[in-house]
This record gives sequence, C-alpha cells and structure tokens, in this order.
Amino acid sequence: MYNPKSTKAEEFINHSEILETIKYSQENKNNTELLNRIIEKAKQEKGLTHREASVLLQCEDKTINEEIYKLAKKIKENYYGNRIVLFAPLYLSNYCVNGCVYCPYHSQNKHMPRKKMSQEEIKKEVIALQDMGHKRLAIELGEDPINNPIEYVLDSIKTIYSIKHKNGAIRRVNVNIAATTVENYKKLHEAKIGTYILFQETYNKESYEKLHPTGPKHNYNYHTEAMDRAMQGGIDDVGLGVLFGLETYKYEFPALIMHAEHLEALYGVGPHTISLPRIRKADDINPDNFSNALDDETFKKITAILRITVPYTGMIISTRESKECRKELLELGISQISGGSKTSVGGYCKDDNNSEEDSSQFEVCDNRTLDEVVNWLMELNYIPSFCTACYGSGRTGERFMQVCKNEQIHNFCTPNAIMTLQEYLCDYASTSTKEIGHKLLQNEIDLIKDENIKNIVIENLEKIKKGDRDFKF
Ligand code: SF4
Repeated sequence: MYNPKSTKAEEFINHSEILETIKYSQENKNNTELLNRIIEKAKQEKGLTHREASVLLQCEDKTINEEIYKLAKKIKENYYGNRIVLFAPLYLSNYCVNGCVYCPYHSQNKHMPRKKMSQEEIKKEVIALQDMGHKRLAIELGEDPINNPIEYVLDSIKTIYSIKHKNGAIRRVNVNIAATTVENYKKLHEAKIGTYILFQETYNKESYEKLHPTGPKHNYNYHTEAMDRAMQGGIDDVGLGVLFGLETYKYEFPALIMHAEHLEALYGVGPHTISLPRIRKADDINPDNFSNALDDETFKKITAILRITVPYTGMIISTRESKECRKELLELGISQISGGSKTSVGGYCKDDNNSEEDSSQFEVCDNRTLDEVVNWLMELNYIPSFCTACYGSGRTGERFMQVCKNEQIHNFCTPNAIMTLQEYLCDYASTSTKEIGHKLLQNEIDLIKDENIKNIVIENLEKIKKGDRDFKF
C-alpha cells in the first residue's frame, strides 16, 4: 500500500500508485478545470503533488503549457535569482563489481582500463581543479568493496579538503557512491561531506532488476532505501536523480516526486538537489539500444514542471547536455551546472594524455573550459557562483530549506555569489572574462536593496582584491 511515511521502498515508491497516477493523468490531460486549478496552486509557489505534476506533464493544451514554462521561469527567478552554481565531477576509481547495462564501468567490460587514483594522484587532480577555479566537487567512484572501500573514500575526502594551492581550496565535497550502511553514512557525515548523491537510475523495480543483473546494486530495496539510511546517519542534504532513458518518463516522473515527498514527510526536509541526466554514448554503450530515450521537448517540459513542483530543490544538469540545451534548461529551472568536466579517472591532469579517451564514463557534450562556461553565463546575464557558504555556516537540511521557503535566499546567496565570483575574477579569469565580470558585478551590487548588506559586500570585494578570501553571509 502507498505510504509516503513508510521506510519500505515498495510502500513509498508504490508501483500501484504510480500506475494509478499515470492513468489519472491520462484521463485528465484535457480537463481544463482541473488543469487551471493546478496552475493556480502552482502560482502559490509552494509546490505540487506527484499526481498534480503528472497531469501537467500529460497536458497537450498549448496555453496551459505556455503557462507552465512562464511559471517555471518566475519561480526560478524568485527562489534562485540569476545565480548559477558551478561544480566539477572528480572520478576517483572506475573499479566496479556491478553489472549495470547502461554504464561502461560494468564488471563484464574487460577492455575498460581500470584505474584507481592514489592520494598523490588525487592531490594533482585537485590542484588542477583548483587552478581552474573550482571550489565544489562531486566525487564519483564505482562500487567495489576491495578496491574502493569506505576507508579509501574517507582518505580521499580528507586529501581533497587539505589541499590549499595558491588561493585555491575545495570548500565542499559532494559524494556520489553506492548505497551503503548507516554506519558508513555516519562516517561520511563526520568527514564533512556536502550532499550525498545517489541516482536511482530507474524506480521501476522490474526494469531495475533487469538493468542491474549482477552485483550488490541488483537489490532494488536496499538501493531505494539508501537516502533513509543516509538521513539516519546524519546526512541531511541528499541528492536524487533518475537516468532518463532507461524506463518511460511517465513512470519515472511521478516516482521521483514521490521520493521527494517521502523525504519531506518523514524527515521534514526534501531532497537538496535533483539531477537530470539522460543516457549518453559511452565505451560499449549505445544509447539507441534504450528505447525510452527522452526527446529535447519532453526533457524541457519535465525540467519546467519539476521546478514548479519542488521550488526549494536545487536542480542540476551536467555536461552530458550540449551548450544549446543547457541554455534553455537554465531558464526553466536548473540552478547548478558542471563546467570544464572530465568524466575519466585522472582526466584533469594534462600529462595523462590518454585517460579521457580510455576511461570516460560517458561522452561529454559540452567540452568548453570552465572559463568559457563562466564567460558564457555572464553573457546570458547569470552570476556564476562558486559559493559554498551554506555548507560552511551549517545551513544544511531543514535549516537551508527554511531559508529557501522564506525566500530569504537572496539575502545570503546573491552577495555570496558576487563575492565568490570576485575571487574567481582575481585568481583565474581570462582577460575577456574579467572585463565582462567586472561590469556584471557592478550591476549586481547596484541591485542589492539592503544598504547594510551592500556596504559589507563592497568592503569585502576590496579586501578580496587585496588577497583576502572566503567571505560569506
Ligand atoms: S553505474 Fe555505478 S555501479 Fe553501475 S557499473 Fe557504473 S560505476 Fe558501477
């Protein structure tokens, strides 16, 4: 039976409820009165249920669809302003004992060169990332109890936080590792990770078991209940995601929202982020073999409806998507993107020439450098943000959500974005990025309404120019 407060996977991600939701949304996709009611509710900017969101997803009415896009843009603007948070993935090891059929790191792929970075190699990668200007990383590694035990992950996090190269520092390490025990989540929490990210891949149990034929990841319930164990381990910022293309989007969409509803119902805090990856070409993976691939239009609609359904949740898009697609998705609700990414183990060190071709987890569609991405964002009038202040000030989980729900985020985030952008401009930007950046910063300072905050920002910007770092609200 469907129960969002249950800790049992099959009760909070309930198959019958998902099928009922799909049926209900198909039956009501032309129900103008209901659609208008849902739009009116969405305008209150407090979110929608999985059923309401699914009705909008099925709706083919042009006027309603335009209304959805308009609203998504407005909510994005109200909650996130024009800031876009930047991060990079860091692949530590591609050893993996699982058999995921959509990932080239699966254990049966015998020609994939296996690599696991030593702490010394991690140090070099982190210096390369710091020299690009990154402050926030997401570490990635396959599941392998022998090669990638929790101790290796903990040592790596310690190494990453310890490196201070020139003015560089990684201030937030998000962690994307396989579902694990409460005890291990406690250790990750003690290691001061930012968000614990785990993609569900697919919420459909039958498909999930076929797509994960071997290895510990085969266990659907253990994987689906991972966020509950993470919460029990003290991690209150968790990141959800499905790999679109594995199952029908009509199934994944309500299920993903049900997972968010479950976290909110049971722990009082929804997911910190939702990632939106689509299946991509990789070593022995051909996306054409997956018949549920998402077209661009549906992908945009999913992004827009998610934005209005979970207004307080950050939404992430990676370099799996092209520059053009990322531009459109930014307008519709994406608040975080990766930049200058390498998806192979050791990919950031220039002397490691073959690593990118040999061991990438997926083909990157946006190959621009971080500086090109920063420059492009500012041309589009976004503030590229390297801010990690909430994490540094203990504003995580419910405390962060309260700030967000009260739309107080502008008082913290915009000034922090401005100050971290100034750091980037001083330390890493090219001449043309500096030029456009200084103009943008001046405009943004003028727009700060609170005189007190404005004066502190101006004062801190001068200190940053003189060499001080890491100011935050
Ligand atoms: S998706 Fe993760 S668990 Fe599955 S094969 Fe790839 S690295 Fe291993």
